[in-house]
Amino acid sequence: MNFIGGKWSWPAGAAKLTSRNPADSRDVLGVFPDSPAGEVDRAVQAARQAFPAWKRCPAPERAKIIRRAGEIMARRKAALGALVTRECGKPLIEGLGDVQEAIDMAELAAGEGRRLYGQTTPSELPNKLCLTFREPVGVCGLITPWNFPIAIPAWKALHALVCGNTVVLKPAEDTPLCGAAFVKALEEAGIPAGVVNLVQGTGERTGRALVSHPGLALISFTGSTETGRGVAESCGRSGKRVSLECGGKNAQIILADARLDLAIEGALWGAFGTAGQRCTATSRLIVEEAVYERVLTRLLRQARRLRLGPGLKKGTQVGPLINERQMTRVLDYIALGKKEGARLLCGGRRAQRGPLARGWFIEPTLFAHVTPRMRIFQEEIFGPVLSVVKVAGLSEAVRVLNDCPYGLSSSIYTQDVNSALAAVRDIEAGIVYVNGPTIGAEVHLPFGGVKQSGNGHREAGKAGLDIFTEWKTVYVDYSGKLQRAQIDNS
Ligand code: NAD
Repeated sequence: MNFIGGKWSWPAGAAKLTSRNPADSRDVLGVFPDSPAGEVDRAVQAARQAFPAWKRCPAPERAKIIRRAGEIMARRKAALGALVTRECGKPLIEGLGDVQEAIDMAELAAGEGRRLYGQTTPSELPNKLCLTFREPVGVCGLITPWNFPIAIPAWKALHALVCGNTVVLKPAEDTPLCGAAFVKALEEAGIPAGVVNLVQGTGERTGRALVSHPGLALISFTGSTETGRGVAESCGRSGKRVSLECGGKNAQIILADARLDLAIEGALWGAFGTAGQRCTATSRLIVEEAVYERVLTRLLRQARRLRLGPGLKKGTQVGPLINERQMTRVLDYIALGKKEGARLLCGGRRAQRGPLARGWFIEPTLFAHVTPRMRIFQEEIFGPVLSVVKVAGLSEAVRVLNDCPYGLSSSIYTQDVNSALAAVRDIEAGIVYVNGPTIGAEVHLPFGGVKQSGNGHREAGKAGLDIFTEWKTVYVDYSGKLQRAQIDNS
């Protein structure tokens, strides 16, 4: 169902799509529409109508609704976490983490209702006041991926809303129910009709219609770099603001002086958490030669012990891929890695034992003897595949890390403060972890990447307000006469 102008409805004539559990394709969660352009138009019109009143509503009042939505999600956390796991496959502990991120985001965004600070600054002229305000941009189209199906809609929508924008959300077609559950929390929290609208559907039909709609001021997109580029082109043509959070090919460096137990634990969590399907997942491991063999031996031993299974099953550490297409894509990359001459240490196959045959599982896969220019080391695979490269030391490690089209997250394990800080300075990425894995962002810090991982914007943190607001600059002259800037005081 879609949520438009405060009402849930099914668009007339829309094709019916099915949401299935990726751990068991027989498990159907529900159906949803592939919304046509006319339905997108209805949602945009509802958001446009609601905009003037929502913009005028005091920000602390807007924040109260956001806070209530966070409380509703907190009360429902167990059920929502289980829904995330059932619809997108990640282990329950991660499904619950997804919901927690949305709750945290509600707390952060609601707090902004009493801040949204502007600036005051002296004028160059006497008896004159200069100040700035953040103003909402208008109706925002939000397009989100499936891998954080409640957290990412929350990242986008809650900041957009506290700033006074109205929104049309199009969640990923793999996780429509999670998108709807997030919107329901806002509905129950008392969001006025038309302020939040939900249109379900595929990227090709509903997503495209949203991006090209002339009634939107902005598109905030999270997804693959390839799709993001098309979205940005279309926004450029129609003069919309656009924020892109795209792919990654994140690397972890292990220097010889690192705590190897921590470094390996971090690499396994970074590479195989969410079955490697995080934009910040570790897919490249860059290891100093003095410890390379030791790292491989321990990594292999521990990777083999990881428990693959449905996310709702107790003890599961690695869940399925999101769908058959993505599973096939990852298997193709594994075949490519072998062809390129990398050494497959473990995994590399679809897991089909017993009930696993009903889902899209791939065994945690390790490649050693990888060289930096191999495609498996350059391209985003988005699956449980970790490629290991050997380097002589810190400077080569940073060079290899930077020699990649993406720049989202990164990590270095070392006990040496000089090495750590040199890496922090030289790594080309939006996020650098020292002695932590490449995953684990917190909502009160800016999130985003450089190079092909984005287009220069950040989400979350205070920086997350920037895309959703325009600055209004105000000059108040109380001198009682004409004062001419740049002329009267020169
Ligand atoms: P995707 O690009 O296939 O889809 C993302 C969203 O875009 C979906 O809602 C989809 O329906 C929509 N879409 C697809 N084609 C469209 C079009 N032509 N016009 C408008 N919308 C369209 O990505 P995905 O498979 O859902 O997610 C995985 C990708 O997302 C990975 O590349 C991952 O790195 C990236 N990602 C990035 C971040 C980040 O913050 N940087 C976070 C999570 C995921």
